[in-house]
Amino acid sequence: MAQPVAQDVINKTPLIVADKDLFVDHINDEHQDELVMFINIFTKASIREDSVPSIVELYPDGMLLALTGINNDQDNPENTAYPIEQHFINFMSPVDDTTSLNEQYIALLQRAATKLGKRTIKLREQLFTVIDGYYASPNMYRLLVTAPDNTPLHQAGYAYLLDLNASFVASKLASAQQNDADDSDSTNEFQGVYRYYSLRKAWRDSDSASVHAWIDVYIHGDTPGGNWARSLGTGAQIKSVREYPEKLDHLTDGQCLLICDETSLPTVANLLENWQNPLSPLVIAITNDPKDISYLHNITLSKRLSHDKDFKQENLLHIINVPKTSITDQILTTLNTRLAVTSTKIDKVWGALEAADIKSLRPQLKSVLGLSRQDMTIQVYWRV
Ligand SMILES: Cc1cc2nc3c(=O)[nH]c(=O)nc-3n(C[C@H](O)[C@H](O)[C@H](O)COP(=O)(O)OP(=O)(O)OC[C@H]3O[C@@H](n4cnc5c(N)ncnc54)[C@H](O)[C@@H]3O)c2cc1C
Repeated sequence: MAQPVAQDVINKTPLIVADKDLFVDHINDEHQDELVMFINIFTKASIREDSVPSIVELYPDGMLLALTGINNDQDNPENTAYPIEQHFINFMSPVDDTTSLNEQYIALLQRAATKLGKRTIKLREQLFTVIDGYYASPNMYRLLVTAPDNTPLHQAGYAYLLDLNASFVASKLASAQQNDADDSDSTNEFQGVYRYYSLRKAWRDSDSASVHAWIDVYIHGDTPGGNWARSLGTGAQIKSVREYPEKLDHLTDGQCLLICDETSLPTVANLLENWQNPLSPLVIAITNDPKDISYLHNITLSKRLSHDKDFKQENLLHIINVPKTSITDQILTTLNTRLAVTSTKIDKVWGALEAADIKSLRPQLKSVLGLSRQDMTIQVYWRV
C-alpha cells in the first residue's frame, strides 16, 4: 500500500484530470485527518502532533503526501514551514479521470477505516419516500420520510449525500400524475446538485414496521437545499448516493464540547438524545435567528442527561450570530467566559461549521484547550 519515496516517484508522470487542483485543495484544507489516517495505517511513520499533512502530487497509481512542520520561533513572527518527510500511498486501481480519482480516494478511506475497525463512508444508492414536511423551528424544515430498512437507528450524525435532481424529478412526476398533467419536460433547476443531510432521528414505526426518519433542512433564503426540501410533496422520492458516518467515537468519555450552527444542530440534537458519557457535554450553538434555539430546547434528552436537571439552562450556550464579529471570536469569548467561572477542563471537541470559520477556529481552539489531533474533530458542513 505504501512505499518509501524514491527516485522512481519523482520520475513518474503526474495525473492530469479535470478539477485536480480543486480536489487537492479540498483535501488539504478540509480532510487532513484522513491524510493522517493514511500515513498511520499504510506506512510505518509516526506523526508528530505539530506536523501538517498534505497532498503534494497525484499520479495515476497513487498520491505523494508530505508532512510539514511549523517553526514556532518567538523571535521570528513569520512562522516558517519546513519539510519533515514524504510518503507515497498507492491506489488500489489506476486512476484516469475525476470519477475514478474520487472512487480510489474513497476506497483508501474504506480500507484504512476497516483496518481500524471504524465505520466508514459507503457508496450506494438508497431511496427515501416523503411522508410529510413541516417546520420544526422557525428556519428548520423537517422532512418525515420512510427510510431504507438498513438505516442505522441510533447513530448520531449519520449523513446521506442526496441527489436533489433525482428527488425533484420524482416529486414533479408524483404531482404530475396526481394532477393528470404531464409536466416532465419542465427544466430542472437542481441539475447536478448534491447536498449532505444528516438523519436527525430514525426509528422503526410500530404500526407499519418500516423505518421512519426525520431529515431537517436549514432554510436560509433562496438556496438549492432549502428550495428542494420545500418542493417535495407527499410520495416524492429522495435518492441518496453516498453515506457518511460522522466522526463521534471520541465523545464516549471525558468532558466534551460540542459546537454547532443550524446545519449541525440535527447531529447535536441526536447526540444529546442518545448521550451515554457520564459527563454532561458543554454545547455552543450559533444561530442567525434567535428563535431557532427552540430546536435544541424542544428535544427529549437521553436518560443519562435527563438526570442533570439544569442541563438545558446551564450547558446549552447560545450565540446569536453577529455578522460583524468573526464566528471564531464569538465562540472563544463565550467559551473563555464559561471556563473562567467554572473549573471545567475540556477533553474532547466535536463541531461542524462553515469552511473559512473552521480554518481560523481550529488552530486557536487547539492551542487554547491543548488538545491532541484525535480529541478534536471540527468538520466543514458548508462554505460561503
Ligand atoms: C456531513 C454533513 C451533514 C450535513 N447535515 C445537514 C443537515 O442535517 N441539515 C442542514 O440544513 N444542512 C446540513 N449540512 C449542510 C448542507 O449539506 C448544505 O451545505 C447547507 O445546508 C447549505 O446548502 P444550501 O443549498 O441551502 O445553500 P448553498 O447553495 O450551499 O449556499 C447558498 C448561500 O447560502 C449561504 N449559506 C449556506 N449555508 C449557510 C448557513 N448555514 N448559514 C448562513 N448562510 C449559509 C452561503 O454563503 C451561500 O452563499 C450537512 C453537511 C455535511 C457535510
